[in-house]
Amino acid sequence: MRVLHTSLECYPFAKVGGLGDVVGSLPKYMTDLGCTTDVVIPYFDNKKIDQHESELIYNGSVSLGKYIFDFEIRKLFSSSFGFEVYLVYQKDLLFRPNVYGYEDDTERFIVFQLAVLDWLVNLETKPDIIHCHDHHTGLIPFLVSHVDAFQSLQDIPTVLTIHNAQYQGQFSYDKLDYIPQFDLHNIGLLDWDNCINPLATGIKCAWRVTTVSPNYMQELQHQANGLEGLLSHEKAKCIGILNGIDHDTWNPETDPLIIKNYNTNTIVSGRKANKKWLCKHYNFDIEKPLFAFIGRLVYEKGADLLPDIVAEALQHLDVSILILGSGNTEVELRLQNLKESFPNSYNTYIGYDEKLSHIIYAGADFLLMPSRVEPCGLNQMYALRYGSIPIVRRTGGLKDTVIDIGEDGFGICHNRANIQDVYNSIKRGVEFYNVQKKYRKTQKEIVKIDHSWNNSAKQYIELYKSLKQLQ
Ligand code: ADP
Repeated sequence: MRVLHTSLECYPFAKVGGLGDVVGSLPKYMTDLGCTTDVVIPYFDNKKIDQHESELIYNGSVSLGKYIFDFEIRKLFSSSFGFEVYLVYQKDLLFRPNVYGYEDDTERFIVFQLAVLDWLVNLETKPDIIHCHDHHTGLIPFLVSHVDAFQSLQDIPTVLTIHNAQYQGQFSYDKLDYIPQFDLHNIGLLDWDNCINPLATGIKCAWRVTTVSPNYMQELQHQANGLEGLLSHEKAKCIGILNGIDHDTWNPETDPLIIKNYNTNTIVSGRKANKKWLCKHYNFDIEKPLFAFIGRLVYEKGADLLPDIVAEALQHLDVSILILGSGNTEVELRLQNLKESFPNSYNTYIGYDEKLSHIIYAGADFLLMPSRVEPCGLNQMYALRYGSIPIVRRTGGLKDTVIDIGEDGFGICHNRANIQDVYNSIKRGVEFYNVQKKYRKTQKEIVKIDHSWNNSAKQYIELYKSLKQLQ
């Protein structure tokens, strides 16, 4: 069986968040399980892609209304990723430094999807399954089943994975002519709330819909940024499969990005060396427990709560806090300003830094995740793998993956996304840290938890097999 993943992100070539990690690791595990897996993403203007040689394998063009866009499909030479990587090179719309955030993102995503399908139509050996990720590729299930030009692909089963239902990619009917000719009787499939909504379209048209954790699947029936009714209606074809992590990239024993590698036997000294580096760089006292946050500084992650949490915690508790992230400019500013008030116990790096994130997982004693919405969350799994205790709000995938220490578990959980709940959890963290014997024992246990893709990749393969039987 051959599966093609279509996505905007794929680590290490393009990563903004968890989507990049998932598409950069799930295919490797699927290939290991005997399911040949390819990935196609845009060719971005970045070093991570440019440093690899690629071969031109297809030239094509697609139209968006009256505009025509030439593109190339290039295949990366290196086989060291564990799967084949294909890139859509389109110089005007896709060959840009950032993945998202442009005014013409709608046009960019549609050109990407049309280019992939134009290539597949002309490909001799077609994939057995097309697996789409998030709204950026959510139109594909509609395009293959209803657009005349892609008729030769209509029997290929499509799977849509919702990594985050908050973002749906809606655009107005002024842009309807971007969709190549189809029977207008089917226009309702594109519609949600009088807009063309790619995520809703994907949910309606994909053969199966998955979300990134079982609990998130349940939550979406009641809270899905306007798509609750649709998701309830389509419940029968929806399934929640927990994301996994890449145990090769995220391995404290071999991770080249951290200061000192370690395994279960050397965890105490290894983590101490990483914490020492963080304390030196960010001016903390190594004796105090270090709490960290890594992530997008957005409302969903509870980032707006962080400045008050920091102030409250540092006024009353003897701890250090480090925040790595970027996003909402007001939150960024408030976090920067706090540095003056707590020069020896608080610091922040506003920006994206992959290396620093790895050192934090390896050196911080606790990882804070006060999320309002967390479809799966990978940070808590990385924290566990590196021996840092996660402090999470019970929501989405966090509920599926973290058990509270009060219930014989290994993390600290609270129910509400507010300052008081997070503060209480930090306080519990300090108490837990002060009983060093128990704290160290838990650390040694959590690094052994298997959150790799092994299990979930098998579930995806079962799902693909069930779809092939329907064909
Ligand atoms: P989401 O996809 O919603 O942003 P996830 O928990 O699924 O959240 O994945 C987040 C991924 O992005 C993790 O690998 C995390 O380490 C990484 N990450 C987020 N923000 C940063 C940052 N500022 N610097 C480095 N890595 C980051």
